[in-house]
Amino acid sequence: MKSDFLVIGGGIVGLSIAMELKKRLSDVKIVILEKEKSCGMHASGRNSGVLHAGFYYAADSLKARFTADGNRLMTRFCEDHGLPVRKCGKLVVAQDESDLPWLDELLNRARENGVALEDILQDEAEEIEPRVRTFRRALYSPSTSCVDPGAVMKKMVQQAVSAGVILRTGVRCLRATGGNVVETGEGYYQTDFLVNAAGLYADKIAADCGFSRDYRILPFKGLYLYADRPDASLRTNIYPVPDLRNPFLGVHFTVTAGGRTKIGPTAIPAFWREQYGGLENFNVYEIADIVMRQAGLLAFSNFDFKRLAWEELRKYSKGHLADLACGLVKNFEWDHFRQWGPPGIRAQLLNIRDRKLEMDFVIEGDDKSLHVLNAVSPAFTCAFPFAAYVCDRILQVATICKK
Ligand SMILES: Cc1cc2nc3c(=O)[nH]c(=O)nc-3n(C[C@H](O)[C@H](O)[C@H](O)COP(=O)(O)OP(=O)(O)OC[C@H]3O[C@@H](n4cnc5c(N)ncnc54)[C@H](O)[C@@H]3O)c2cc1C
Repeated sequence: MKSDFLVIGGGIVGLSIAMELKKRLSDVKIVILEKEKSCGMHASGRNSGVLHAGFYYAADSLKARFTADGNRLMTRFCEDHGLPVRKCGKLVVAQDESDLPWLDELLNRARENGVALEDILQDEAEEIEPRVRTFRRALYSPSTSCVDPGAVMKKMVQQAVSAGVILRTGVRCLRATGGNVVETGEGYYQTDFLVNAAGLYADKIAADCGFSRDYRILPFKGLYLYADRPDASLRTNIYPVPDLRNPFLGVHFTVTAGGRTKIGPTAIPAFWREQYGGLENFNVYEIADIVMRQAGLLAFSNFDFKRLAWEELRKYSKGHLADLACGLVKNFEWDHFRQWGPPGIRAQLLNIRDRKLEMDFVIEGDDKSLHVLNAVSPAFTCAFPFAAYVCDRILQVATICKK
């Protein structure tokens, strides 16, 4: 099959880019290849569903640039299509004196990023959620909300297909050559411009096209523990102060769009890319490569991988997760949180030259292909403005747009 644009990956990023291209160039032929039977089987359908506000990220980052707008646009998308949006806000709590300067740092970032964030006292936090546990102060984000990622993905697929995007599910890209020809299990696809939005496999496809030389994806597993009783539900999301040196937000409470409370997600190093549970999707080549990298990072890394790995691996224990959750709420009854939910895996990019985790979205490419690397959280929130940014870049360089 020949196309003007070929998008690899039918997650939220691939679908948003395809829809944005179609909006701008209505006559072009756009094909999406998705290896699974349906879209949203990986991170886009297995995340926390939080529309972030945008106060965590350094002001010069792409994350800071797109999160607030993304939150607004995704909220409008859900409301326009009758999808649930729980506008429950978020509290960031301090667990002791040492957390207070980090609340100030988040306030600074919110100010720099033009995002509303309220500095409140302990009793004001308790008015928002009576069970919250915080030390003296807390931060309240009114624009954080929760959506149903599965419902969003379903609607996006419908919209893309009805706009004329050709979606080929169950077709895996085996190899991309020079960006213009893609080999799949069902033959070759030729294209003028290739967009790689393959999530956990984006580095592999980029490498086929001569990119991602300094990067490899290191998978981190996010587990959730669900409350099995509605009275365990909270009124708002409750997060600890994050360790801003790494891209994860720490174990927190999220209220789902449907009103259920869950604890998580963890960021446990995984041994192969789609290691959701047991030996599912086991891949011997991946395990050798990933374990070798992890061992290298244990010996030397620029982000204390040893401490991160140890702290995260302990979270396989429900008891330990419950202990962490106790720091965020009072009278936490962990008997109510016994059920693991479907895990998600972060396609976190490792810079193999600097031996550090990349914090921001990364894009590489030329006039024939573009590769989205490190589309980690909050890429779900950012999907629409990020897709617009990617399309601006494609339209500037793609030979097909100059014809
Ligand atoms: C546990 C967890 C919690 C998160 N929470 C949030 C949150 O609350 N808010 C937020 O904004 N973000 C959150 N995120 C991040 C967000 O989910 C991701 O940033 C986003 O979903 C990335 O979308 P994607 O399209 O790049 O990747 P994916 O959804 O992984 O899509 C990539 C697609 O490419 C396909 N693919 C891969 N290889 C090939 C191939 N060779 N051929 C064909 N198809 C291929 C895959 O099957 C997949 O469907 C979370 C992520 C995780 C893991």
